[in-house]
Amino acid sequence: MNENYIKIESKAKIENLASIRVCVTSFLSNLNIHFDELMDIKTALSEAVTNAIDHGYSQKNDGIIITEATIIDNEKIVIKVVDFGTGIEDITLAMTPAYTSKPESEHAGMGFTIMESFMDEVIVDSKIDNGTVITMTKTIRKRKSS
Ligand code: ATP
Ligand code: MG
Repeated sequence: MNENYIKIESKAKIENLASIRVCVTSFLSNLNIHFDELMDIKTALSEAVTNAIDHGYSQKNDGIIITEATIIDNEKIVIKVVDFGTGIEDITLAMTPAYTSKPESEHAGMGFTIMESFMDEVIVDSKIDNGTVITMTKTIRKRKSS
């Protein structure tokens, strides 16, 4: 198995989202990845990081987020977003389309639905007061080398 990864540690501030996206995108560009798949991964990543900031740390700007991107055998991509915040009480409910615990603050409850539709697999591991680990995988299409 051939594996390569990057790991980004950042403060849970929304202004860091762009930097995280750029780092991961640049890393994945080592692959001959199709543009649409790169966009899908970027969108799923953004939802997970935004959730860590908005829900894991309730926008308090004081927590830490670890974002990891791994490439396995040049075709399987694993994105991991870890926070050490509030945790999720009921994961099944949280992942239900249109469920949000913050309907008053412009949340549509669509983050997990977006992650699941753009990635092959989304695994949520969470513990109250310990934090949340989101692990998303996607196997990209092979591209004819020119
Ligand atoms: P939207 O993503 O459309 O802005 P949302 O963030 O509420 O709305 P989801 O991203 O689907 O919707 O998340 C659903 C719910 O899961 C959230 O409202 C929140 O209660 C919980 N949740 C998600 N991620 C985390 C996290 N990292 N820590 C704690 N709770 C979370
Ligand atoms: Mg969300």
